[in-house]
Amino acid sequence: MSASRVLVLNSGSSSVKYQLLDMTDRSRLAVGLVERIGEETSRLKHSPLATGGAARETTGPIADHEAALKAVAGELAKDGLGLDSPELAAIGHRVVHGGQLFTEPTVVDDAVLAEIERLVPVAPLHNPANLTGLRTARALRPDLPQVAVFDTAFHTTMPESAARYAIDVRTADEHRIRRYGFHGTSHAYVSRATAALLGREPEDVNVIVLHLGNGASASAVRGGRCVDTSMGLTPLEGLVMGTRSGDLDPAVIFHLMRVGGMSADEVDTLLNKRSGLIGLCGDNDMREIRRRIDEGDERARLAFDIYIHRLRKYIGAYYAVLGRVDAVAFTAGVGENAAPVREAAVAGLESLGLAVDGGLNAVRSDAARLISPAGSAVAVAVVPTDEELEIADQTYALVGTGNA
Ligand code: ADP
Repeated sequence: MSASRVLVLNSGSSSVKYQLLDMTDRSRLAVGLVERIGEETSRLKHSPLATGGAARETTGPIADHEAALKAVAGELAKDGLGLDSPELAAIGHRVVHGGQLFTEPTVVDDAVLAEIERLVPVAPLHNPANLTGLRTARALRPDLPQVAVFDTAFHTTMPESAARYAIDVRTADEHRIRRYGFHGTSHAYVSRATAALLGREPEDVNVIVLHLGNGASASAVRGGRCVDTSMGLTPLEGLVMGTRSGDLDPAVIFHLMRVGGMSADEVDTLLNKRSGLIGLCGDNDMREIRRRIDEGDERARLAFDIYIHRLRKYIGAYYAVLGRVDAVAFTAGVGENAAPVREAAVAGLESLGLAVDGGLNAVRSDAARLISPAGSAVAVAVVPTDEELEIADQTYALVGTGNA
């Protein structure tokens, strides 16, 4: 029997999320999460979906990523799904920053690791953890293909006019400053799933994808290829997010440093961790913000309005970038669940062919669905994202012996 399982690993600085998939039917055999790595109270939660057994939770110190991965392997082995199984075809890793070089999923070797390492200065929060995950998994199964799937890859089709900042070209090139974009795995998956929902081929449709999670980004996808996206050199640019400011006048930063006496690191923390919705109103969970608005809370209302204003600007901008829009797709935690956000984002845009049907928008469902009135010029859709499945698909397409 050919190897048909793929383990997907998403390694953060203190966490590892994982899913084991059977690619013959793309079903999930196990999913889980290790949190608080390096602390006394590390926690491993493992759901053995294949056996239908109850989720298992263990708490206790897990010193580092190597120990975390060994613990995950131990849990999988209990269900007969161990990492030493000949049925494991590959491990697919989420890697946040692939720079300009990595336009496709890539089998990892020493040279690839060195290049991901070289990108650490532009992705200091993410790439080091991703590298640790890659190295650890490689040490555990050196014979197995380890595939890096990059968050930036889908955006490498952006034209220079969208990817370059209007700053001195030599300085930009010296420091590799350009717009890379993130959430690419999600934008790729959702834009294709939106075409499928419309019963059309990705090559034939233009889609604006709004990935609204705690981090948030928009993309303009023409015929299956990204032509613009709202995140830039780092995930800080673009939409108002849970804790990030998104777009602002860069002079705000000099002002805070010169006049406010803040260090570069302090401004970095302010803009990435204490801005966006949480900075505006003290909450970054859209459910809580809606609850406060319903109680008449003015700060929550203003935070919501700023969030929506920015979102609408991007919808308008990407409408102009694409020229013709077939669909606007909402995805991720806010996009999939917050009907008021979807309604407000397109309210009054009938002249652009955009509208939301109140009844359809209010339906709660895990399925991809249309929420625009029948006969609308532009489809408005809710399309649940599935980054793990996309990573597994891309990994398996690259290495799957099942394809032979
Ligand atoms: P991440 O960016 O961390 O992957 P998610 O895509 O899971 O985040 O989105 C998390 C966010 O989704 C939460 O912070 C919250 O604002 C929002 N969210 C989740 N469920 C709901 C809901 N039922 N209604 C409104 N917002 C929700």
